[in-house]
Amino acid sequence: MLSEQTDFVVIGGGPAGAAAALMLRRHAPGRRVVLIEAGRHDRPKPGEVLPAVAQGLLRQLGAWTLFSDTAFVENRTLVSAWADEPPGEKHSIFSAHGAGWHLDRARFDRLMLRAAEVAGVEVWLGTAVRSATRENSGWRLKLVDADIIAQAVIWTTGRGWGLARHFGAKVTAHGHLAAYSRFFDGAPGDCRMVVEARPEGWWYSADLPGRHRVVACLTDPDLGNGLRQADHWYRSLAATQFVARLLPAGAREITSLVKPAGTATIDPAAGERWVAAGDCLFAADPLSSRGIVHALRSGILAAYAVSDMLEGRENLARARYSMIAAQGFSDYVPMLAAHYAAAARWDTPFWQRRIPLKENATATPRQIMHISDGEDGSHATRHPGL
Ligand SMILES: Cc1cc2nc3c(=O)[nH]c(=O)nc-3n(C[C@H](O)[C@H](O)[C@H](O)COP(=O)(O)OP(=O)(O)OC[C@H]3O[C@@H](n4cnc5c(N)ncnc54)[C@H](O)[C@@H]3O)c2cc1C
Repeated sequence: MLSEQTDFVVIGGGPAGAAAALMLRRHAPGRRVVLIEAGRHDRPKPGEVLPAVAQGLLRQLGAWTLFSDTAFVENRTLVSAWADEPPGEKHSIFSAHGAGWHLDRARFDRLMLRAAEVAGVEVWLGTAVRSATRENSGWRLKLVDADIIAQAVIWTTGRGWGLARHFGAKVTAHGHLAAYSRFFDGAPGDCRMVVEARPEGWWYSADLPGRHRVVACLTDPDLGNGLRQADHWYRSLAATQFVARLLPAGAREITSLVKPAGTATIDPAAGERWVAAGDCLFAADPLSSRGIVHALRSGILAAYAVSDMLEGRENLARARYSMIAAQGFSDYVPMLAAHYAAAARWDTPFWQRRIPLKENATATPRQIMHISDGEDGSHATRHPGL
């Protein structure tokens, strides 16, 4: 069996992994960086809206030129039918940051890996890391047909937490939201994104490159099972006031996906010669639209942290990284709770579970667990089917 040695391995090639690998090459150009990605980014993936603030991060990573040469859709208008008042429209022309983008996610993820390759990262596609064990001061990672030994590892496997026990980390689910998405083509673009609260949860739709459009319903998984059936999903869509109007008669469904979308965190954020980043560190509710920016930002910080570890500042790197990660989560919790509370006007299970927060916009993570689970806030990996 082959057994290679390297300075750094990044496990997972989504935006967090690509950002981490790119920043490692920029920060420590003499070091060997291998990125291992289980898939090939050749299938539709949710997570399409990239806020304008991402531009600074893409520039910092040296990926801006590649990004701006790609024809993604500019996000010109956000229509929000959320609180109990007439829908609001926000136009990017009035935003200090300008317009964000609606991505073809698979294409964006490929583009980021391309930028990493150009920067000197070795990208291994279509191969998953199956286990991680300590070896000397680093890690031995087992792949299907090879081992690789790294001095330090950045763990960015998104919502796939199968390696958690290998790193001695605990995953906590703070709610079990699920997304029932369908992708369409033949939808003439209008650069709009719509978010609409409904009794069963909330819907969003975004215009995507190539006359594509995504439409998704988000609800708790115990309430959303019927939405797996096309007729139920289309009936629920037809009852929306704004989202349904965005799909012209000629639009054709290409594919459907069901994905977990609840808030989850891991603890600790970093350990001996490893650091987690992106969703793997902190998976946010898509309502916050912060997933990709968080992935890029935490990937960059994780690269600094593992570089410090190799230069003998292990404890400082871990403490500093964990503190930044904890701060990001504590800022998010009250904001999300207040946002849901603003729309909680229906006597339906989805919204009733969120009503206690109406009284308390500074809710703790524990309270978020109560409203979304109705039960015990149990482990994220208990929902493998989502
Ligand atoms: C319905 C929905 C809508 C969303 N909408 C938005 C949005 O509009 N805007 C936004 O910013 N965010 C959105 N998000 C969140 C966003 O998609 C994520 O935050 C983002 O993809 C996180 O990036 P990541 O690199 O951490 O993880 P991922 O993008 O999940 O990448 C992880 C990668 O790791 C790979 N991997 C997993 N296990 C292994 C292994 N063992 N070995 C090797 N590779 C492995 C996977 O194949 C995957 O490519 C949405 C999420 C959902 C569910």
